[in-house]
Amino acid sequence: MGSVLCEHCSAACCRYVAIEIDKPTSARDYDDIRWYLMHEGVVIFVEEGDWFVQFRTKCKNLRADNMCGVYETRPQICRDYKAEDCDYCDVEQNYEEFFTHAKQVEAYYTKRTGKVLGAPKPLRSRLTKKVRKHGKSKLSTV
Ligand code: SF4
Ligand code: SF4
Repeated sequence: MGSVLCEHCSAACCRYVAIEIDKPTSARDYDDIRWYLMHEGVVIFVEEGDWFVQFRTKCKNLRADNMCGVYETRPQICRDYKAEDCDYCDVEQNYEEFFTHAKQVEAYYTKRTGKVLGAPKPLRSRLTKKVRKHGKSKLSTV
């Protein structure tokens, strides 16, 4: 923060944490993303081919007047952030992908692979696993 632009902004850049994640390649990867999106305040976006998870949570140092409470000692990541290339405008439409709900990534996965994420496994397979877990070699049926 610090430019003239910042004076007209409610500190959009201080209200989230975004972390790059591996690009999903397997059903398990997509299922993990689906799990992220089941949590409040979590979004996933893709920018220039890179995948990010974003946690929408306000910095504890942000003051009520939308100014930084630790400006002189703010972290380097905040110092490096430039208003010329920032979140002042709603940039959601600039992302290649933007997911806010698990259903969206389920649809994305199905469109790309023709498969369904999160479908219940066949009963027999689940029973087999349960039996193996208990150390038996054969599936016992009722
Ligand atoms: S989002 Fe941009 S304009 Fe707003 S406070 Fe941050 S750097 Fe300034
Ligand atoms: S430390 Fe200051 S500049 Fe950095 S995110 Fe928090 S309020 Fe914003």
